[in-house]
Amino acid sequence: MADILHTSPNDWKYVSEGGATIVFSYKGPPNPDFDGTVLRLRKSIVPANGAKRVAHASFAQEEPDDPTIEYQAKCMEKLIPPEHLPRLETVFLNKEWLRKLSDLKDALRPEGRRAKDEIDLNRKKGVLATDLVGGNWVAVEIKPKWAFLPSPTHLSTETKSVKTQTCRFCMHSHLRSQEGEKVVTDYCPLDLFSGQKSRVLNAINSLWNAWLASEATVNNLKIFSRGKFLRPSEAHAMLADNTSKETQLDTIRDTFAAALVRYLLQTPVLSILSRLQRNLDVLDIEGLSKLWKFTESSAPLYRTTFASFFEQTSDSPSSAPPSTPLGVSSLFLNAPEPSIPDWIDFLDKYLSSDRPELDHNNPSPKYLHYYLLAYLLSATFKDCSIIIRMDMLEPGTEPTADIRPESVTVIDLDPKSMDKLRGWEKLDNDIVRTYSSAQKKVCVDEWQAPR
Ligand SMILES: [Zn+2]
Repeated sequence: MADILHTSPNDWKYVSEGGATIVFSYKGPPNPDFDGTVLRLRKSIVPANGAKRVAHASFAQEEPDDPTIEYQAKCMEKLIPPEHLPRLETVFLNKEWLRKLSDLKDALRPEGRRAKDEIDLNRKKGVLATDLVGGNWVAVEIKPKWAFLPSPTHLSTETKSVKTQTCRFCMHSHLRSQEGEKVVTDYCPLDLFSGQKSRVLNAINSLWNAWLASEATVNNLKIFSRGKFLRPSEAHAMLADNTSKETQLDTIRDTFAAALVRYLLQTPVLSILSRLQRNLDVLDIEGLSKLWKFTESSAPLYRTTFASFFEQTSDSPSSAPPSTPLGVSSLFLNAPEPSIPDWIDFLDKYLSSDRPELDHNNPSPKYLHYYLLAYLLSATFKDCSIIIRMDMLEPGTEPTADIRPESVTVIDLDPKSMDKLRGWEKLDNDIVRTYSSAQKKVCVDEWQAPR
């Protein structure tokens, strides 16, 4: 295992951070263990004034590897060809090294983040990964989001006409605009996933426009050049050295789009993600929720606990026994957080050629657990990002070189947890309810099974 404690915290450059992790790239003296790598560290909440930091009790003895590593090695590699996954490995850390790093780099972090969280100094392990953005290339990070329109089978009469016409992302954008978010994009993931050049170009242009309008703060497109995160005013940094620095922004946009579309049309990554999302979310959250309620209400203990409800006659149809929110364990129904062995078990079933044919039109309570895990896994693919590593842009020259498979990598493949489900069900409801009164956009799903 590479020994990171022998590198100086000075050799690590702050790159970026998300809600849970912060990323540094290696810029120290040549070192085969660390050249071309990034270090990903977990963050912890900044304690309120006066509160004491509490060490993770569960890590007192042996801290497990970051779950991302095990999840990738044991699960994701069964679904996504390894050439499209980053190299990930565990490195050991200590508090002294982390504190030095934190002291050196904290001032470089966005102010809003610094108020909220910091590097978790109690962690003993971090993740070393391929540096996908830091080399002599343009790295484009796209968060594609939902790739499909749901099957109408389990949708309610109120939601069916909405959800089968407008994709989830476009409806969510509408909700965000209603809630007052300033930059709302007209990007439609179904364009990106369509496999058709003109539609993929549309998607790229929409992503670019939102990138411009938001000053690169939009979530769905990030651009890096030679390791530097670019804002629109720095778009020239995408150009090859021999290119005129007078190049207009529109020319850069067109060159960017022409280069990117080649990668997106040639890589199998988008169709793999689309197929996985769709095949793992066959019931929609509405169907999953119905199956959950039905399974719970079939439990013998539930029937006896709420016997009075079941004995009621149709005179009082308004009263129904209470049900437990989706994904929350109760006395009647157990929905434990999936462990890695649970995921492996699920994937063995999912990928087995002789698995019993599940009747998705009439899902059985017997398979509730299967459908729950399938939905969570689908959510991982709805929320992941892809990074495309392209040559520096040269306006006016037509790129012809073959695209190497490993130029497109899938990242942010974290397992999702059961306790997200109830929130997702509510969000789905809010999104569709708000959209019902909107001007309906028509999103075309090229890969939809004929109805
Ligand atoms: Zn759409």
